[in-house]
Amino acid sequence: MKIVAVETLCLSRMHDLDEQWVTNRYRVVKADAAITLIRTDDGLTGIGEATPYGAPLLIRAEAARIGGALLGADPLTAQLPPVPPRRPQAADFPHTPPFEAARAGLDTALWDLRAQHAGQPLNRFINPAAADRLRLYASTGVRYDWRVRPADLIDDVAAQAAAGFTAAKIRIGTDWEWDGVTTDRFIALLRELRQTIGPAMELMLDGNMRLDFDQALAIGRELERLDFRWFEEPIPLEPGSYARLSGLLDIPVSGGEGAGDFAQLAPYIQGRCLDIIQPDVAVCGITDALRIAEAAAAKGIETCPHNWHNDLMTVANGHFLAAIGGTRPLERCRVQGPLQTALLAEPLAIAGGQFDLPRAPGLGVRLAEGLAARFPHVEGHYALQVPR
Ligand SMILES: [Mg+2]
Repeated sequence: MKIVAVETLCLSRMHDLDEQWVTNRYRVVKADAAITLIRTDDGLTGIGEATPYGAPLLIRAEAARIGGALLGADPLTAQLPPVPPRRPQAADFPHTPPFEAARAGLDTALWDLRAQHAGQPLNRFINPAAADRLRLYASTGVRYDWRVRPADLIDDVAAQAAAGFTAAKIRIGTDWEWDGVTTDRFIALLRELRQTIGPAMELMLDGNMRLDFDQALAIGRELERLDFRWFEEPIPLEPGSYARLSGLLDIPVSGGEGAGDFAQLAPYIQGRCLDIIQPDVAVCGITDALRIAEAAAAKGIETCPHNWHNDLMTVANGHFLAAIGGTRPLERCRVQGPLQTALLAEPLAIAGGQFDLPRAPGLGVRLAEGLAARFPHVEGHYALQVPR
């Protein structure tokens, strides 16, 4: 089997005005997708969703460059080029270097081909004892504005419970400086949320690296009292401060979604700076995600992938989570709009907060027809910065 073509599909859908969502200083106006395809001479096609945080057109250019060197190679043994060193830090945009995003999409497409060739679903190809069913958590909490009605957060989580989710992850809302929001005010909202939603719903908080150490410590202590399940990226990523924070808190501290390869997370694993590590196969690829999970397990660190954007990404991260025997729920973005589910020819088997992984060989899914015509790519940042 030889690789004969590498392509990238770049897609967008503008959010309807009432579907736009806000967080920090941003109003998110569109959903993007970047899908890499690897075709072989025996008629197989492997597909992988790269994080569109790498900017789809730049991902296409990088995938073409990497793909040029893959032509003629056997996908069962093909090697992708290594990632140049960098720190997994939040950036303006693209958040993910396009090279890393492209490499992740291609790596996923190669794993899809390998498992298809073996005639096995990807989770079982990696681990014959892998589960086929995953619990999902609703990833949300990005629709409340501190100036308008913070309690929209509570309605949002209640709606996720009503939709059958048993777990939800929330964020810290619009820029606190805009409206003089304090740690105490945020904690009051968290208490109201827990009281309204009841004890059964699993809750997680993502700080998106926006808190300082003292804020994170105070909020983390309250999360423990309110029985939250993890505290994600509360402060800017830096191994020393994460080691200190996770040492002081009982609630698991999680992070790592922005890492483009194993090396970027190695210091966090080595120093046991995180309790839960969150590689995303759309950012670092399946090969590196497996290596991260294995090294993390050896240090007593759990792995639960980050997962956002569209359904092809959910399938890939789902196979990965099942393959490593993870017991935490899989993230399910609840604000991406119709592009999320329109990508695939057949809807995913998601019901009541449960996801039955596709059972066909490989990732087990096919792309829908006519995507490029239906969702033409719109260049530019997915969000507008709002002055206030
Ligand atoms: Mg996060």
